[in-house]
Amino acid sequence: MSEGWRLRTRLVHGGAARSAFGETSEAIFLTSGFVYASAEEAEARVADRAVGYQYTRIANPTVRMLEERFAQLEGAEDCAAVATGMAAVHAALFCQLRAGARVVASAPLFGACQWIVGDLLPRFGVETALVRAADREGWERALARPADVVLVESPANPTLELVDIAHVARLAKEAGARLVVDNAFATPWLQRPLELGADLSVYSATKLIDGQGRCLGGLVAGGSAFIKDTLRPYIRNTGPTLSPFNAWVLLKGLETLGLRVETQQASAQRIAAWLAEHPGVEEVLYPGLASHPQAEVARRQMSGPGTMIAIRVGGGRARAFAALNRLRLVKISNNLGDTRSLATHPATTTHAKVPAELREKLGVSEDLIRLSVGLEEVEDLMADLDRALAP
Ligand SMILES: *Cc1c(COP(=O)(O)O)cnc(C)c1O
Repeated sequence: MSEGWRLRTRLVHGGAARSAFGETSEAIFLTSGFVYASAEEAEARVADRAVGYQYTRIANPTVRMLEERFAQLEGAEDCAAVATGMAAVHAALFCQLRAGARVVASAPLFGACQWIVGDLLPRFGVETALVRAADREGWERALARPADVVLVESPANPTLELVDIAHVARLAKEAGARLVVDNAFATPWLQRPLELGADLSVYSATKLIDGQGRCLGGLVAGGSAFIKDTLRPYIRNTGPTLSPFNAWVLLKGLETLGLRVETQQASAQRIAAWLAEHPGVEEVLYPGLASHPQAEVARRQMSGPGTMIAIRVGGGRARAFAALNRLRLVKISNNLGDTRSLATHPATTTHAKVPAELREKLGVSEDLIRLSVGLEEVEDLMADLDRALAP
């Protein structure tokens, strides 16, 4: 049906399955279960001999529409939707790991991902190692030994350090590992990990995919055999299921993903260039600036540098807090990817649970502020930031 459609078209029409009423917008199937015409039909559906839904923990038509639309956007064979981004990361790892396995992950990672790698996996007898995102030799050393899973986040939350995904994909393959990429910051609109050699891409759909700060969600995209035989049994039996209502909100979010990302990214590029000259800012971390140490990697693997900026303001926590407290238009929040511009102090919020020593080592310094650029008029945002950052 969707053969040959381009991205913008797929975001609006991909995966739509109309009911007998012929509704224009996708229907919300807010039902926990489904009824069968006979006992024999129930038996056949459970045995996978007949097509049809059984129970929303297993599958639901609205959730399925989201999964199909997202798989088309990603260029993946299949996709599984779950309740949150962390459920996506957790399920993508745990469905394929067992005691004795080895996981290599990039650093920095989103705080909760760091907890899974640093605290949770070792409890179950999984060996884990961290490699600094940009450290090419570090990746070569860590993956000279066999591994089972490699987890990377690029651009990394919150420092916007990049992993050269094609490079790590080659090393992961040689080490016998599956590569999982947390692509929440870029979205498939700007970066397609599977085309760069990754096996799975995982998302917090809470961020740019909803993009309007309304609900949580998670997505895992990859090969159909892995999703059907390894990931789905884990999800259906452990229950991190996405609500059909939230699936519908995310379907609506996808329809405007390209428009929002392009507009927010254009503003981010302007703001980053302006901040780089601002006397109240010591350093701007943005993959779209020539000063970013991996600007070349960004150009190679991303179609644009994204909507997130990080800045170091100097003067430690006191100066960062003072700047945040002077903002009027930009809101203080841990969230990102919203239509509203949001500012975060990662060291005391998203990354507060990461041991302080590791945090400093990874560049999540006390004077670091993360900015998620929204849809507001860029001149209004610059005026607000200018007042907040006055030296
Ligand atoms: C927010 C985020 C997550 C977690 O997503 P939730 O939807 O909040 O569970 C995971 N990874 C990255 C990079 C994120 O930014």
